[in-house]
Amino acid sequence: MDYLDKLNPQQKEAAIHKNGPMLILAGAGSGKTSTMTHRIAYLIKEEGVSPYNIFAVTFTNKAAQEMRDRVEDLIGGGLNMWILTFHSACLRILRKNAEYTGYNKDFIVYDPTDQKVVIKSCIKEHNVDDKKFPPAYVLSIISDCKEKGISPQDYSKINGSDFKNKIIYDIYSAYSAVLKKNNAMDFDDLILRTVELFEKNDEILTYYQQKFRYIMVDEYQDTNLMQYRFVKLLAKEHNNICVVGDDDQCIYQWRGADIRNILEFEKDFKNTKVIKLEQNYRSHGNILAAAHSVIENNKGRKHKKLWTDKEKGEKIKYYRADNEKDEARYIAQEIDRLNSRELPYCGFAVLYRTNVQSRTFEEALSAREIPYRVLGGTRYYDRKEIKDIMAYMRLVQNTADDLSLTRIINEPKRGIGEKTLEKLRVLASVRNESLFDTLSDDEIVEGLSSKAAEGVREMISVISQFSGEKDNLRVSDIYDGLLVQTGYLKNLELQNTVESEGRIENLLEFKSVIFDYENEDPKLSLSEFMEKVALLAEIDNHDAGENAVVLMTLHSAKGLEFPVVFMPGMEDGLFPGWRAFEKPDGIEEERRLCYVGMTRAMQRLYMTSAELRTLYGKTDYTKESQFLKELDKSLIDGDAIYEKKHTSDRNLGWSQGGGNDGYSNPEIFRPFEQLKYIKQNRAAGSSNSNNTGSDLSDLKEGDKVIHSKFGEGLVLSLDRSTVSVAFDSVGVKKLARDIAPIKKV
Ligand code: ATP
Ligand code: MG
Repeated sequence: MDYLDKLNPQQKEAAIHKNGPMLILAGAGSGKTSTMTHRIAYLIKEEGVSPYNIFAVTFTNKAAQEMRDRVEDLIGGGLNMWILTFHSACLRILRKNAEYTGYNKDFIVYDPTDQKVVIKSCIKEHNVDDKKFPPAYVLSIISDCKEKGISPQDYSKINGSDFKNKIIYDIYSAYSAVLKKNNAMDFDDLILRTVELFEKNDEILTYYQQKFRYIMVDEYQDTNLMQYRFVKLLAKEHNNICVVGDDDQCIYQWRGADIRNILEFEKDFKNTKVIKLEQNYRSHGNILAAAHSVIENNKGRKHKKLWTDKEKGEKIKYYRADNEKDEARYIAQEIDRLNSRELPYCGFAVLYRTNVQSRTFEEALSAREIPYRVLGGTRYYDRKEIKDIMAYMRLVQNTADDLSLTRIINEPKRGIGEKTLEKLRVLASVRNESLFDTLSDDEIVEGLSSKAAEGVREMISVISQFSGEKDNLRVSDIYDGLLVQTGYLKNLELQNTVESEGRIENLLEFKSVIFDYENEDPKLSLSEFMEKVALLAEIDNHDAGENAVVLMTLHSAKGLEFPVVFMPGMEDGLFPGWRAFEKPDGIEEERRLCYVGMTRAMQRLYMTSAELRTLYGKTDYTKESQFLKELDKSLIDGDAIYEKKHTSDRNLGWSQGGGNDGYSNPEIFRPFEQLKYIKQNRAAGSSNSNNTGSDLSDLKEGDKVIHSKFGEGLVLSLDRSTVSVAFDSVGVKKLARDIAPIKKV
C-alpha cells in the first residue's frame, strides 16, 4: 500500500472509505482528483472490487484520459473500466439500448455547428426574423430546456404563448422534429435521453445500478440538473457515490450548472461522509494568496482557505501593454527568456477569456519560432473539406441524415442547384422519407437533368456500397474510398490552386487522425470513430507530451496545471466580459473563472492588459479589469496598476520580428508540427495511397488473401459482385468485391 503513503491524512481517509456516500469539498490543487484516483486503486487492489463495478465520470475527454492513466499507473496495467465523460458514458448506454430510445441504432451526434445549421433552417422556414431571434439565442433556450427536461409542449405550458414564446415553441418543435427525422441527437440529448431511458425502463436501470456499485464524479460543482438526475438514478441502489468538487470553481452556470448540487449533496444522500482538504500542493505561496485575494470578493461562497508549505516564489507579474500586439510580444518574449533557462515550452500556458484572442499570440509566437498548439474548439473540424468528408462518412453510417446529404449533394459539383435541391426536399417530405431514399428511387432521378441524374446515381451507389460494407472495412479504408470514389479528391486536384492544395493537405492530415485512433484500437468501427470526433471537446487536442506552448480558453483549463501561466486581456468588458454585468451572478461567475485561471499556475503567474485593443474590428481604449483592483497589491510586481508607463520602457528586449509586417504572411502562423505531419503522411500516402478498389479480376477460389481489417483469409467462393472469405480472425465474411480492402497474398 505504498501508494497511499504519499497522501496526507485527510486524503488517505477519503481514499480508503469504502461504502456510503462521500463528499470531498476542497479548493483548487488540494489533490481532489488525485484522491479519487487513489481511491479507485484502493478499491481494486485492497478491497477486491472488480473494475467492472466502478464508474468514474468527469467533464472533458482529456480529464478522463488523465484519470485513466493515473489509475493504470497506480494499479499497474490497463483495465477496461468506465472512466468517461458524461457524454461518452451516456452515448455508450444509448447505443447499447437504442431500441428502447425511439432512435435507430446508427443514430449520429450533431455538434454545435450542425445544430446551428439546423436551427437556421428552422428559423428561415418559419419566416422568423433572425435579427430578433438569433440562432445562438434560440439554441441557448433550447439547450436550457433540455437540461431541465422541458419539452416544446412543456415550454408552452410553462411560459404561455405570447408572440415570443409561440415562436420559440415553433422553432423548438421544428428543431426536435428535424433531429428525430435525421436520426440525430445533440449533446444535450445524450444526457436527457439516457435519463428518460432509465426512468421508463426499470430493467435497464437495474442493470446499470447493479453494474456500477461504486460511482465517482469529479468537478461535481459543474453538473447541471440532468447530469445530477443521471447520477442520482444510478447511485440509488448501492448509495456508494463519491463526489469531489469546489464551489469556488463553478464556471458553467451559463450552461446550466447548478452549484446547489454540491452544496446540498449532504441533504440528497443521508449519512454522507464529508472530507475537507486544505493543503494546496500545486502553487507557490504568492500565487495562492493572490488567487484568494480575488475570490474572497465573492459573497455567495463557503468560506475556506488553503495553505501551502511551498516557498512564496515570485510575485504575480503584471504588464500593461500599449495594444494587443505589444501584449502578445511581451508574452512571447517572456516565454523565450524563461525557456532559455531550461523550462520546456510545454510548461507554459496562455489562458484567455475568448477564442478570438488567440490569433495575436499565434503571430507573436510564430515570429519567435516558438512551437505552440491552439486548443481552439472545433476549429479544425470546422474546415470546409473536413466537414464535407465527415458528412460523407456520416451518411455511410446513417443514410437518414438529410443534413449531411444536403451538404454534399453538390460537393463536388453534380449539377444540383438550390432550386432542384429544394424541390427534392419537398418531395422527400411529402413521401415521408429521407432525402437519401428519395434519391435512391430511379424514377425521381430520371426527372433530373442528365448530368445531375448521372452524378446522383453515382453518389448514391458509392454511399450505399460503403454503407452496406461498413462493418467489414477499416475506417481509414472507408475514408480513402470515399475521397476517391466520390470524386471529391480529384476535383480538388483539378482545381490546382493554392487553396485546393491546402485543402488536400488538410485531408491528408485528417487521415493521420484516423490512423492515430486505429493504432489505439485496431478494431475501431465507423460509429466509434464518429463518436470520438463528435465528442471532441476543445481540450482534447492537448497532448502533454508535445513540447509546445499551449493556448486555450480559461474554461477549458479546468483541472489542469502548468509551471507558468499567462492571463492576458485583464480588462473590464473582456474579463469580466460585458455580458456578465447583465446577469445577477454574472460577475461572481467570472470571478470564479479568474480563480480557476490563477490556480492553474504552479511557479509563475503573469497577468497582462492592453491600453488599446482591437476586437471584433473595433479599436477602443480599455480599463483594467476590476479583478486586478481586487488583487492584493503587495503580491504584484511590474507596472503599478492604474499608472501609465513610459512607452520607451517597452522597447527593451525586442530583438527581432518586431516590425509590423514582419509576420503578416499567414503561412507562418501554421503550427509547425502540422506541416511535419502532412509531409510524413504525404510520403506514406503516395506509395500506397489506398488499398480499396484494388484489382481483383483474377481472384479465384482457394486464393489466400489479406484484408486490412480482418487479416489473412481464404477465398471460398465468388461471383461478379461479392467474394466470400474465411478469415482466421472472424470466420466467414461476404464482401463487396468492388471495395473490399483485400490483396492476394
Ligand atoms: P483542481 O481543483 O484544480 O481540480 P485538484 O484538487 O483536483 O485540483 P490535483 O490535480 O489532484 O488537485 O492535485 C494538484 C497537484 O498536487 C498535482 O500535481 C498532484 O500530483 C499534487 N498532489 C496532490 N496531493 C498530493 C500530496 N499528498 N503530496 C504531494 N503532492 C500532491
Ligand atoms: Mg481536479
